Amino acid sequence: MSIAQNLQQIKSEIPENVTLVAVSKTKPVEDILEAYNAGQRIFGENRVQEMTQKWQELPKDIEWHMIGNLQRNNVKYMAEYVSLIHGVDSFKLLKEINKQAEKHSRVINCLLQIKIAQENTKAGMTPEEAYQLLHSKETASLKNINITGLMGMATFTDDQKQVDEEFKLLKSTFNKLKNYTTLNFNPTTISMGMSGDYQLAIENGSNMIRVGSSIFGSRNYNI
Ligand SMILES: *Cc1c(COP(=O)(O)O)cnc(C)c1O
Repeated sequence: MSIAQNLQQIKSEIPENVTLVAVSKTKPVEDILEAYNAGQRIFGENRVQEMTQKWQELPKDIEWHMIGNLQRNNVKYMAEYVSLIHGVDSFKLLKEINKQAEKHSRVINCLLQIKIAQENTKAGMTPEEAYQLLHSKETASLKNINITGLMGMATFTDDQKQVDEEFKLLKSTFNKLKNYTTLNFNPTTISMGMSGDYQLAIENGSNMIRVGSSIFGSRNYNI
C-alpha cells in the first residue's frame, strides 16, 4: 500500500479526537510530501538537525513535533518553529526550552515524559517527579512554556498485558495531575501508542498517537 493509503487506513480506524503524529524520522522529504498531499500536517522527528533540515525544505504549515530524547544544547535550533516537544524529562531541559522560546517571543508547548516501561533504557520521570516539577515555584516562573500533557512509551514486548498496564499507569498519572492545572500546566494531551500498540493505547485513553512504520514502512538506520 502507498503512504496515502496507509494514512487513510489508520485515520479510518481511530476516533476523531485522537491526533495522529506521522513519525517521519529517517524518511526522505518525498515521503513526507506524499503524506502532506494526502492531508497530513503533523509530523514527528527524533533528531533536531534532521527535523530542522526538513522544516527548511517543506511547506511551512507543517507542525513539527520533537519526539526523541533531547539534549539541551539542541533546543536552540528548533525553538523558532517546533510546535510540540514530547519528551521533556527534567527541569533543566524545561528551563532551556523556556529560554530559547523567549528569544523568539514564543510559548512552546511541551509534554512531560513519564517512565512507564520496565526497561531501563526508556527515559522519563516518575509520576512523583512530575508532580514535584509541576508544583515548584521555579516551574511556575517559566512564562514561555506551556505543558499540555504527558507522553509515555511502553516496553517493547509482545506481552499485551504488560503494555496494557503501562498505558493504564500513564492514564492514571494524567488523571491525578490534571486536577492541579497552573498557569503553564494545561493538560489535555496523552501521547501514547505507536505502530504496534496504538489501538491498545487509544482504548486506554490516548488522544495522540505517534505512528511511523505503519505509514512509511520500516526504517533503515544504516543509510
Ligand atoms: C520511532 C518512534 C515512534 C514510531 O514508531 P513506529 O513503531 O515506527 O510507529 C513513536 N514514538 C517515538 C518516541 C519514536 O521514537
